[in-house]
Amino acid sequence: MGADKYILRVEDIHKAYGDREVLKGVSFNVRKGETKVFIGPSGTGKSTLLRCINQLTLPDQGRVFLNDEEVTNSGTRINYFRQKIGMVFQNFYLFDHLTAVRNVEVALLKVKKMDAAAAREKALEELRRVGMEDWADHYPAELSGGQAQRVSIARALAMDPDVILFDEPTSALDPELTREVLEVMKNLARQGMTMLVVTHEMGFALSVANEVLFMEHGKVVERGTPAQLLNDPAFTRTKNFIGKFRDYNEE
Ligand code: ADP
Ligand code: MG
Repeated sequence: MGADKYILRVEDIHKAYGDREVLKGVSFNVRKGETKVFIGPSGTGKSTLLRCINQLTLPDQGRVFLNDEEVTNSGTRINYFRQKIGMVFQNFYLFDHLTAVRNVEVALLKVKKMDAAAAREKALEELRRVGMEDWADHYPAELSGGQAQRVSIARALAMDPDVILFDEPTSALDPELTREVLEVMKNLARQGMTMLVVTHEMGFALSVANEVLFMEHGKVVERGTPAQLLNDPAFTRTKNFIGKFRDYNEE
């Protein structure tokens, strides 16, 4: 079997800060259109793992491939891979001095070198996808956290990524705002976007994840379908962790 059936391959990623080993050999493969959800206690290396995938953090060991091209050690081509591997953070990181549509189009102008009219059209199209077209001319300070997060998703989508990494995209949001962001993410999953999502939203995992990976102390301890992992975990450690989120709803 060729490895070419996978859009993303993550092989044996290790990362230490000083003498503290934060990732101790994490491997997994992702098929096009899959959504994988990563859960686990805080400090377990989930953010570091996502950052190693697009080389915002350089792993000490291990390799990452996108469409069979090596992302690790890719030199200046990393800029190309960062377009193809979108990232959405807990705290949005929008430019405060730019309107929503300008936030989405800035990379289209500067990185993709699109002309102004085409960039504007594309930015508005992506805002429409996340239900934010009516807010195109508003500044981040005028948006709710949920709206700001939807703009940051539109910004990732504008680069036509092969995969989007979401690092606790709703952890800074109230429940009702969380819901609107999860709705957008579910729609993306259903439209066939490939996504890796670090989240504690077990309802989201149950409704769209192909696989859930439970991480602890820098390793994937257990992985399986959402139903297996959330309802019938093999390990006590997984069970104990999931028990804290027992009030989730399947949507
Ligand atoms: P998680 O996202 O699962 O909460 P992180 O990947 O953010 O975990 O962090 C894993 C561990 O690595 C934590 O102990 C954290 O303090 C440490 N860490 C993360 N980034 C750095 C850094 N830049 N320098 C030193 N330690 C870091
Ligand atoms: Mg984190």
